[in-house]
Amino acid sequence: MMRRGANLPSIGEFNQSVVLDVIRVAPTGVSRVEIAAQTGLSSQTVTNVARRLLADGLIREGERLATGPGKPRTSLHLVPGARTAVGIHLDPSFITYTVVDLAGSVIARAATPTPPVLSPADVIESMRLSVERLLGEADINRARLLGIGIAAPGPLDLERGTVDNPPLLPGWNGVPLRDALGDALGLPVALEKDVTAATIGELWSGQDSVRDDFAVFYVGTGVGLGVALDHSVRRGATSNLGDIGHLRVSHEGVVCACGNRGCLGENIAPARLVSDAVRGGIIPHVDPADHGAIAAAYADVCAAGASDERAARLLEQIAGDIATAAVAVANLLDLSDLVFSGAFWNHLAPVVLPEVRRLIAGSRAYVLPHALRVSTSSLGSDATAIGAGCQVLSSAFAPSAAPLVRPAPA
Ligand SMILES: [Zn+2]
Repeated sequence: MMRRGANLPSIGEFNQSVVLDVIRVAPTGVSRVEIAAQTGLSSQTVTNVARRLLADGLIREGERLATGPGKPRTSLHLVPGARTAVGIHLDPSFITYTVVDLAGSVIARAATPTPPVLSPADVIESMRLSVERLLGEADINRARLLGIGIAAPGPLDLERGTVDNPPLLPGWNGVPLRDALGDALGLPVALEKDVTAATIGELWSGQDSVRDDFAVFYVGTGVGLGVALDHSVRRGATSNLGDIGHLRVSHEGVVCACGNRGCLGENIAPARLVSDAVRGGIIPHVDPADHGAIAAAYADVCAAGASDERAARLLEQIAGDIATAAVAVANLLDLSDLVFSGAFWNHLAPVVLPEVRRLIAGSRAYVLPHALRVSTSSLGSDATAIGAGCQVLSSAFAPSAAPLVRPAPA
């Protein structure tokens, strides 16, 4: 769905973001006349906004196209490298760093394991070093760098910019991640819940510009749901929308921290699959405290699913639990698309995605009058870090989201 503009001078910034959006998603360029037709803005407003965007170097003019009668039209194109942002994904198992441009393309990336025993202050210091190294290696022009987006597991307090005791990050209680990182790097920092960042990445990357009502089903160290309705990301009352960990998907499974059995988060947790595989004799013993070893063993079990009957049965259970949750959220939100994402999903997908599609299509609990389109994110395992960077870009060019970004310290 295309946002409509308004011909009033007081909302020039809004119009600028509307026009830039149209140019951003037009791979072969778009003329001023076409922009006016798509946005409902007057041709004079489009001309004024385009002049400003050209002066700022955000767009460039392409060829003059003589198309029929009237003046020849000049196409306008995005200059992707005109602005960049750093996107960081803090996962309990790993930290991913990306530098993204205005098109949402990745210019540079790096990843490190999350140190399991270091204090938050030590982790933030290692983030500072990693960001400085990445910016240096990729030769990023600081003048064009808008800031840093950081995606972290919830619950978060976005007003204070703190991480508040996520279940899988022990010791991260009331940690002022946003301000500490901003002070360390001297750059504006935006904090966002991981699933919300992943959803922003899907919206901004352009690949999914045709999708209006979709959810990102996130399968990482934890599980979560990011939601976009009417082509806008949804955050909820305190920006913590999307915890589906305690959605009950079966009568079986170990007892969850909430006291119930059959919770989605517990049933499909990576450590759970690995310990089941160890118990079933599919893989040798793995240290449950070693995130890196669990991730490697998880990949092994998923790969074994193609040939080992016992591994295939464990993965079938996961497919069943995911499909049950997927039907519930699709019904609840009237989704057109469900996009799977997350570092662990990429191991599961080859075996589990066809089964999940089959189960959803055959589910008697699915009530929508349309078929649900089910896919894997085209952004790969860096999707959340990419989305964290896109959050900074979209905040800069969508005035309504601006208050979430803390300005750089003076
Ligand atoms: Zn539970």
